[in-house]
Amino acid sequence: MDFDFTEEQEMLRNEMQRFCKKELTRQYVRWIDENCDFVPEELWNKIKEIGYFGVNVPEEYGGQGLGTVDAMIMNEELGTASVAVLLGIGATGLGSSVILNLGTPEQKEKYLPKLAEGELKFALGLTEPGGGTDILGAIQTKAVDEGDHWRLNGSKVFITCAHVADYITTVAITDPEAKRTKGLSVFLVPRPTEGLETRLIPKLGCHAAGCNEVVYEDVRIPKENLVGTLHNGWYELLDTLNPERIGTAMLSLGVAKAAFRDAFEYAQERHAFGGPIARFQSLQHYLADIAIEIENATNLIYKCAWLCDQGKPYHIEACMAKIVAARASEKAAIWGMEILGGWGYAMEYDMQRHFRDYKQMVFSPISDEMAKNMIMQFMGYPKSWS
Ligand SMILES: Cc1cc2nc3c(=O)[nH]c(=O)nc-3n(C[C@H](O)[C@H](O)[C@H](O)COP(=O)(O)OP(=O)(O)OC[C@H]3O[C@@H](n4cnc5c(N)ncnc54)[C@H](O)[C@@H]3O)c2cc1C
Repeated sequence: MDFDFTEEQEMLRNEMQRFCKKELTRQYVRWIDENCDFVPEELWNKIKEIGYFGVNVPEEYGGQGLGTVDAMIMNEELGTASVAVLLGIGATGLGSSVILNLGTPEQKEKYLPKLAEGELKFALGLTEPGGGTDILGAIQTKAVDEGDHWRLNGSKVFITCAHVADYITTVAITDPEAKRTKGLSVFLVPRPTEGLETRLIPKLGCHAAGCNEVVYEDVRIPKENLVGTLHNGWYELLDTLNPERIGTAMLSLGVAKAAFRDAFEYAQERHAFGGPIARFQSLQHYLADIAIEIENATNLIYKCAWLCDQGKPYHIEACMAKIVAARASEKAAIWGMEILGGWGYAMEYDMQRHFRDYKQMVFSPISDEMAKNMIMQFMGYPKSWS
């Protein structure tokens, strides 16, 4: 058994650390949080220059063809510097896994080289106003076959980065008579398109990855924009969501590491009763507990990424990693605030941002409760939620 990263992976990490130190300074990250609903264009272009967007795209389509472990190394560094920026660029790249897994050769040829260059942005439109956990029960959006095109009507909520996306990967009912799992299909809906509207939903944290209500009113979609097999979109899409869970866990780990770093530094600088507060055992225990959670989450995430790269199943571990990392970020943000005392609550320090940012990953893309339901179902228990 070998826990070491390769020399190339260490170099990748060092390169990312240098990039984040230079381009994602504390002041700039604060400014982004206060002013942006998406990653600023100049930063996007710099991330483009380092080849980030092509990491997992195969070389034949202009990418670097690297593995999930490599992508996670980059994401760990980026997410610790700014989880909102990582979420913004991660959400817009979700399209690449959908097209890689489900796309026709023509679709791969058309979209993957541009995705690899950072020239295209995608959003994933799954959740509907009726609910996200029971998505199959809530889905109402319908696509009707009108001969040379599809006509789409319905709405989605909380769709990350739909306001900047070139395509919204949209799940819709195509066979209303069939059992829901057998009557859904996936479409690439170009934006802008007549009848398609997005509206930003103001939210607590992760501001550089704005989320949106999306309304489809008689939207015409070209026939060639169906991705995957007609009516089989649900099962096909599920397969692409496991890597998303590893990515979500990495977002949480980024918040946890940033909150730990800030609390660790502050405890050494702040003095009380004649010395730094870092000497108090109760505060050291807070920090030790956060460090333990971070270590647990890190190991699980990289184990998932490794299993993914080996082509081995990791659906149970991905749900576990999502939960463990979300809890690590929660502990780090809440106890980080305790360690900073009043300054933890002040907008002048970053701890309040970590506190606002961590919460999103607790219930999105799936809630911890649902992730636990799935773990037990994967372990052979009867499905507990229907
Ligand atoms: C900021 C943000 C960004 C998002 N980005 C996207 C995106 O890009 N694309 C997209 O498609 N969706 C996105 N979502 C939606 C997200 O996936 C849903 O919010 C999530 O699935 C939860 O759904 P819900 O909010 O409707 O909560 P609900 O489904 O209404 O759940 C409410 C509560 O009930 C619990 N619950 C429900 N069913 C069960 C059960 N069977 N057992 C135990 N507990 C249960 C849940 O755990 C939760 O605590 C985003 C959401 C947010 C807030």
